[in-house]
Amino acid sequence: MVAHLTPTLCPLLIVKVGSSLLVEGDGTVRREWLQTLVADIAARHRAGQKIAIVSSGAIALGARRLGFEKGGRASLADAQASASVGQILLSGLWAELLAAEGMTAAQILVTLDDLEDRRRYLNITATLDRLLGAGAVPVINENDSVATAEIRFGDNDRLAARVAQAAGAQGVVLLSDVDGLYDRDPRDPEAQLVSEVATIDGKIRLMVTGGSSSGMGSGGMASKIDAADIATRAGIGLSIASGLRPHPLSALDNGAPSTWFAPRPGGSARKGWIGGRLSVKGQIIIDAGAAKALRSGASLLPAGAVSVSGEFRRGDVVDIVSKDGETLARGLSEYDADDAKLICGRQSAELETLLGAVPRTVLVHRDQMVLL
Ligand code: GLU
Repeated sequence: MVAHLTPTLCPLLIVKVGSSLLVEGDGTVRREWLQTLVADIAARHRAGQKIAIVSSGAIALGARRLGFEKGGRASLADAQASASVGQILLSGLWAELLAAEGMTAAQILVTLDDLEDRRRYLNITATLDRLLGAGAVPVINENDSVATAEIRFGDNDRLAARVAQAAGAQGVVLLSDVDGLYDRDPRDPEAQLVSEVATIDGKIRLMVTGGSSSGMGSGGMASKIDAADIATRAGIGLSIASGLRPHPLSALDNGAPSTWFAPRPGGSARKGWIGGRLSVKGQIIIDAGAAKALRSGASLLPAGAVSVSGEFRRGDVVDIVSKDGETLARGLSEYDADDAKLICGRQSAELETLLGAVPRTVLVHRDQMVLL
């Protein structure tokens, strides 16, 4: 099934480990299981595959140490305090287990902004490249102790997909406590596992029910589908598989049930980066003619825009929305919101009179836009 994730087809793999796999319900570490995962990682490493780990579990581990209720998730302050205690334990654990298999762990803690801001994104890319080139195994988590609610990923599924983009990975495995995506509520006896998804459309999203089943992590199937969307748009394949069995990566190689999200043909890291941006700053509503032009690959001209909302600067991400409210595309605006409002619905020839100069003829260039 996941032949796509062999070292030849996938020289760099991102493995995400959910909180419920790292920590038991009572807060103790599932060390034996982790050893089997690290043994799998070591085998792949020896076979020449580079691996980065996205590890959850800081909040769950720290909450136990601090004696906080609700797994440390009763408030943001509890979660942040838990994470700062738990992250030390978590990195120590990975460093020890990876070292026992002859590998060097490297810790990277990131915030949402680090991966959304183009310059910081490039910095992280360079750090990851250097570490992976030196044979280290980056262990990545969100910097939960400093990130406030608005600037948090909140779940490590999407973080893993964004890290995959930044690192230039070809594949992601999300290890969780479910086998994959079911076509309806998995508690329904009729539910069938979907083993392969070619395109993430409305039908796939409708299959998703509820949040994290363990109640320990913050992900759930919805955030896994979002992660798959981000990854596949960037041309990266993503697998959701259960980590409840020992040696979960070998199990996957040997045909254990899973859901494989195929990379989009022609997906590119740049377009993936735009499509995956989580902080969209504004909206441009467009008319039917412009919607048709966009679908056939054209740029968005001011003439096709009906209205503009939000506060954005040139280069910020905006959603391009039809009059019916359907989000058609996402792209980097060539104008700030005030100028975009001014030229909305105007012909290109009028721009110079309106603005005094014409820095750009389009509102959103097709190379800086991804159709949704
Ligand atoms: N970053 C969180 C932690 O380390 C986990 C987020 C998630 O549940 O996906 O506890």
